[in-house]
Order: sequence, then structure tokens, then C-alpha cells
Amino acid sequence: MGVIKIFSQRLLDLKRIVLGEVAENFRRVEEISEVNTLKILNAMRRLKISDAHFKTSTGYAYGDIGREKLDELFAEIFCAESALVRTQFVSGTHALATVLFGILRPNDELVSLTGAPYDTLQTVIGHTHAAKGSLKEFGISYRELPLINGKVDVAAIKNFVTPKTKLALIQRSRGYSMREPLTTSDIEKICAAVKATNPACVTFVDNCYGEFVETCEPIEVGADIAAGSLIKNIGGGLAPTGGYIVGKKNLVELASYRLTAPGMGDELGASLGTPRLLYQGLFIAPHVTAQALKGAIFAAGIFSKLGYKTRPLPEDFRGDIIQAIELQSAEKLIAFCRAIQNFSPVDSFAAPEPWDMPGYEDKVIMAAGTFVQGASIELSADAPIREPYAVYMQGGLTFEHAVIGILAAAQELEKF
Ligand SMILES: *Cc1c(COP(=O)(O)O)cnc(C)c1O
Repeated sequence: MGVIKIFSQRLLDLKRIVLGEVAENFRRVEEISEVNTLKILNAMRRLKISDAHFKTSTGYAYGDIGREKLDELFAEIFCAESALVRTQFVSGTHALATVLFGILRPNDELVSLTGAPYDTLQTVIGHTHAAKGSLKEFGISYRELPLINGKVDVAAIKNFVTPKTKLALIQRSRGYSMREPLTTSDIEKICAAVKATNPACVTFVDNCYGEFVETCEPIEVGADIAAGSLIKNIGGGLAPTGGYIVGKKNLVELASYRLTAPGMGDELGASLGTPRLLYQGLFIAPHVTAQALKGAIFAAGIFSKLGYKTRPLPEDFRGDIIQAIELQSAEKLIAFCRAIQNFSPVDSFAAPEPWDMPGYEDKVIMAAGTFVQGASIELSADAPIREPYAVYMQGGLTFEHAVIGILAAAQELEKF
């Protein structure tokens, strides 16, 4: 009753209507979560995960069985030859950059097939603006295939990828854009088109926000390598930091030499008390991802009924956990983010401000009242301050929290 009193009757009526309309979508989300839970459970049973794997290691951590087994587990779940799962990756961008710097050599060509990549990757690539230490400084050239109406121009790939192209970057999630995320079926078509033109070209998927949204993952549909963040879907909200890379053995090995040092690769790296959190987080990740997806569907329902353009729509097939809502003004954007922050379990008293975040070109506002700093598998909202003033909302460790945050944001917007 207490919670209910916070929100207007109009919003509570809207909530009831939306929940009625999305019941079938929720059921689909739950089924996917069951399939993925079984996939992880079976891998854990097959690999005989045990208490011994949760022990911490220090120093060089040679022969750390918990670290080695976790790599095996990720490889198994992703149907990959090899995996590199480390809290030494400071973020998803670091894991993605490690793949690029690990594989690419001077005079190689990198292409993006999904238009402009995620903001922080643009800094890594260094072609849109000068960035110290970027791939450009190492003599790696770059081209991008523009999207057509928000879709990958698959038919154009055969003329775009050339025998010289060493690596093709494919971003699964929408990132900070209104385009649709890729489905794994889209990724399959894109990878096939690349390989038909140049079988040696490495297909690399930025898998951020995509894990466990469907029942299969990029390597199964033809990607050579994929990478992402542990403080998004796959960490289940428990992983305290880190990233992962999965894929062909030789490619993951090249990335490992970039993460540590040539010759050292994946054989070092202390776990410093994190292993149980990484294993347990992985185990609950399909469920937590489902909570986030339900929150996103609910938000799409509420805000489209309030007259805002939402992507995806509540009934749309989803390829990532992000819900974009076009708010049309910077003021509304800031108010939305402040409401999400205000109804967060941590730092609820803070009022987020747009700021110059490292790696981003425009000012960015971020609401993340999270247990793990900036973890966007927890209920969070962020947006670059630029047209069309879309807010990107995602996460929610529990659907209940997502509902409260979303209604709070909706109530705040009613003041405009
Ligand atoms: C989150 C994200 C990244 C990496 O961001 P980090 O904040 O460095 O983890 C890269 N690409 C996409 C599409 C993302 O959503």
C-alpha cells in the first residue's frame, strides 16, 4: 500500500493495463530464461564445478584452477573453443579493445558493419577524432558500412569487405542509437556474407547487453570471436568488475597476449576473492537478464501509452536489454534520469548531472544508483545530451524495482 500511494491513480491504472497487454511477451522471456539456465546448469554439471574453484588466488596465480575452470565454463556456454574471463579487464571497452589490439597489426584494415560503433569504441579506433594510443596511431585503417534505415546493409557486404579486410566489427546492441539491435539470426547472415567474400576476415561481435536475451550466442552463428562486460547481463549483478572474450583458440590467445604480455597470455592473473561471485553471477544471469527484459517491456508499454516514441515497442522481438525512449528535450532527459536515481537503493540522494565522461564525445548523463559502480545490469538510465534526446534505460536486478523506477520517471515527466 505504501508504495502504491506514491504514484497517481492514472499511472497505476496504466500499469495494470500494460501488464495485461504484455503477459504473452513476459512468458516468452521466461521460457528463454529457462533454456539458458539449463544450458549453464548442464555446463556446470559437466565440468564438475565445485567449492574448490571458488578459492581465491594471489600474486602471479599460476595454476589457479578456479580461473581456468571459469574460462572453460564460458567457452562451453558460448560453444567457443576458448575463453578469457578476467576481473583484470576494467570494463567492456577494455575487453573489446584487447581483441582489436591483440589481432590487428600495422597496415591491417578494420571495418564496422553496423554503422558507427559504440562511443567508447570510436575512441579506441581513433578515426572520427584524434585519440592518443588509438588503433589509428598504430597504422590500422578503418571504414564503416552505413546502416540503411537502421538495418545492416547485408547485400552491400560483398563489395565492402575486401581481401585486405582483416577484421569486421559487428555490434549486437543498439548502443546509444535508435537503430534496432541485431538478432543472432542477423549476425548469422552478416557473418556468412563476410566469409563468402573473404574467408580469412575475422568476424568479431561486440556482445554487450546481448547475452541470454536469446537462446543462442554469436559464436554458434558464425562469429569468430566475441567480447563483453561482466557488469552487464552475464555477471548477473554479482560480478564486481571485469570482462570476457570467447572465440577461436588462436584469436583468444592473441588477445590474451595483449591483456597481459606476449608469452604470458592467460596463465597469470590473481582472482583476489572474486571467483564465487563470477560463478554465481553467471548462474543467475539468465534470470536477472529476464528481470531486466521485463522491465524494458514494461517501460516500452508505459511510455508509448504516454505518447513517447519507444524502441523497441512492447511487443517487438528483442535483441538486447536496452529500452530507448525519445524524450525530445534535454530537460526531460535529465528529469527522467534523476527519477531513476532517486528511486535507487544506493546514492538515491545524488542528482545526476551531464558530464564529460572519458571516452565519450558528447556530454553524458547517467543514473546508476547501483551496488556495483556503473553496473548497467542494475536499473540504470543514461543518455548522451544530443538529438533526439533519447534516454536509454536498462537493467533491474528485480522486476519489482524496475516497475517502481519506471513509474517514478513517468510521474516526473507528467510535470512538464
Ligand atoms: C556497454 C557497451 C560497451 C562497453 O562499455 P563499458 O562501459 O566499457 O563496459 C561497448 N559496446 C556496447 C554496445 C555497449 O553497450
